Amino acid sequence: MTVKEKVGQMMQLDARDDIDDHVLAKHVGSILHASPERLNQAQGLTAQTRLRIPLIVGEDCIHGHSFWIGATIFPTQLGMAASWDPELIERVARATAVEVASTGIHWTFSPVLCIARDLRWGRVGETFGEDPYLIGELASAMVRGYQGDGLTDPTAILATAKHFAGYSETQGGRDASEADISQRKLSSWFLPPFERVAREGCRTFMLGYQSIDGVPITVNDWLLNDVLRGEWGYTGTLITDWDNVGRMVWEQQVQPDYAHAAAAAVKAGNDMVMTTPGFFAGALEAIELGLLAESDLDAAVSRILTLKFELGLFENPRLPDAEAQRSAVASAAHTDLNLQIARRSVVLLRNDGVLPLPIGGSAAKKVAVVGPLIDDAQTQLGDWAGSSGQAGWLPDGHPRQMITTVLDGLRELLPAEWELSQAHGADILRLAPNPEGESFPDGQPRPPVVIPCEPDADLIAQAVAVASAADYVVAVVGDRIELAGEGRSTATLELMGGQIALLDALAATGTPMIVVLMASKPLVLPASALNAAAVIWVASPGMQGGRAIAEVALGLIEPSGRLPISFARHAGQQPTFYNQIRGQHGDRYADLTQDPAYAFGDGLSYTKVEYSDLRLRQQELTRTETVRAEITLHNSGERPVVETVQAYLSDRVTSVSWAEKELKAFTQVSIAPGETVTVSIGVPVADCSLVDARGNRVVEAGEFSLLVGPSSRAEVLLAAGFRVTD
Ligand code: BGC
Repeated sequence: MTVKEKVGQMMQLDARDDIDDHVLAKHVGSILHASPERLNQAQGLTAQTRLRIPLIVGEDCIHGHSFWIGATIFPTQLGMAASWDPELIERVARATAVEVASTGIHWTFSPVLCIARDLRWGRVGETFGEDPYLIGELASAMVRGYQGDGLTDPTAILATAKHFAGYSETQGGRDASEADISQRKLSSWFLPPFERVAREGCRTFMLGYQSIDGVPITVNDWLLNDVLRGEWGYTGTLITDWDNVGRMVWEQQVQPDYAHAAAAAVKAGNDMVMTTPGFFAGALEAIELGLLAESDLDAAVSRILTLKFELGLFENPRLPDAEAQRSAVASAAHTDLNLQIARRSVVLLRNDGVLPLPIGGSAAKKVAVVGPLIDDAQTQLGDWAGSSGQAGWLPDGHPRQMITTVLDGLRELLPAEWELSQAHGADILRLAPNPEGESFPDGQPRPPVVIPCEPDADLIAQAVAVASAADYVVAVVGDRIELAGEGRSTATLELMGGQIALLDALAATGTPMIVVLMASKPLVLPASALNAAAVIWVASPGMQGGRAIAEVALGLIEPSGRLPISFARHAGQQPTFYNQIRGQHGDRYADLTQDPAYAFGDGLSYTKVEYSDLRLRQQELTRTETVRAEITLHNSGERPVVETVQAYLSDRVTSVSWAEKELKAFTQVSIAPGETVTVSIGVPVADCSLVDARGNRVVEAGEFSLLVGPSSRAEVLLAAGFRVTD
């Protein structure tokens, strides 16, 4: 390869730009954001290149084949996380891979392993929530699903663990702000999920945008070389995030020009440079100036070519396959799987007994369905799907008829004799041009500014009228796509626009209110919602979301979702995650409790499950043994249940300050009404570890408690003590 071919091989450019230039002049190794037309065009161009090295095509297929019109769009990662079901999530990823592979795309930039911290961050909905263990389990499942039985399987796609690492430790929720995080804190909580998927064989890692201690992740030698490639022995490929190399010049201003930035990025061990067109000239200049040797490119180029060989692209470039698409994309089996995961993502947070609605009873009832999100099909799909903004070729999003909204679901499933009325009730926001200008210095569009709508008296009056005339009101409120995603962090967490006034007015009617919070991330609820007859949360629940919600509301299925993330009572409580470090004075603010509104692990069923008799097989263990526990669960209600049994560990005395408790295992069990079951839990003592003051992960001898129950809340956990001996 010539030096230009090597530099080009390290580049991934945006297929929406001048693709002839990308392939023929810059010799790029990869493209992303290719519309179906561009994909065909690119492959034709490859045939004209000297070496005809196949392109590797990447896309953000992060909850389904996001930007392929008519593909199956599943709930967002945070929604799927509420299922706490790795096996189901693996099947979702497998289905996604089958759809994606049929369209000529080889690489998905998924899953996200960032740990949700400040809920104001716009990307919380892309995460699996706040717990490192749950994230590791669910992300590994997703990686297995994407990569299938091995990369030579033509339905396998490359998975990407992103954003390595610490990107979510924002300041004030501001996207990509400098992360104030020590190496020890990274090792303690942020890195374990990444280590888990590295060992699972995740073939690519994407680097975060932020700096830590003044050093952009792109050039963080400790993270990339000592930890990832060194300690973990990772042999996969690293890709920067969008223009990370350019940002070192124009945004972070830590490199004087593209030659220096390119040299620094190559020397730090980056392989693929995403969307920095200036890397081409920059790297060549760096070689001319002696900042880089041509041979410095070889390791990266070899890793990229290895990936292409592993995928078998030289023999089979895996071009779009119309026949495979016909059987794969939005197949009946995938639609059914989508409904299954949507059902499992519904979390019932409050219920005074109003749910399930009594559709089996003799009296026909009236249901008012009210709110700005009752029938907002594209919003229901969430970020990174259809018209969410990243791809321009689906201006209208995914086909409306593929999406079941809450209104559709209730219309379809309510008994024919029941009456359904509807009202919009409130607007959420309008958009205004960004006063800073339409684009960032690199030409990327700046998101417009969100202006909350004022409550509208007429809309509220119409909603109150239908609610007053009904036996139940289902209020569907939440956020919109403009309030979620990159560069769209929010300063507030309250329901926006006219929604609080709407809920207050509905509550005042006295009609039992079921609040369906359809929100990309946890929001702060007003008293009228917190005290409503019932509260259901779904993150952006995908194409089948409305049907799943209706099924839960009508008791056609059991609610089984559990929170993968805590809900704050006030934005000022940030961060609200459950596994905080002990040692502060007291546990409340002068003017507010620190207790979250809903805690990690919370979620109700339509029955009651009693936990009793937590017993350990052994109370004294060595570091090589496993803590084995059993607990008795009794379903004392009248409906079946899928119960998520959660096991937390508390290390009583630690050499460094540490979290009061951490999730170490969970298991799901179906229990029939009246049935009593025994559930077994195992936690290897090797996992009862902490990171000591020197940064080493160790198991310290001493007393521990195993805490088992239905949520992270102290009051619902049973405890049993054990001792680890030297
Ligand atoms: C995001 C990544 C994404 C990439 C490509 C970036 O702005 O941070 O998560 O994979 O764009 O679309």
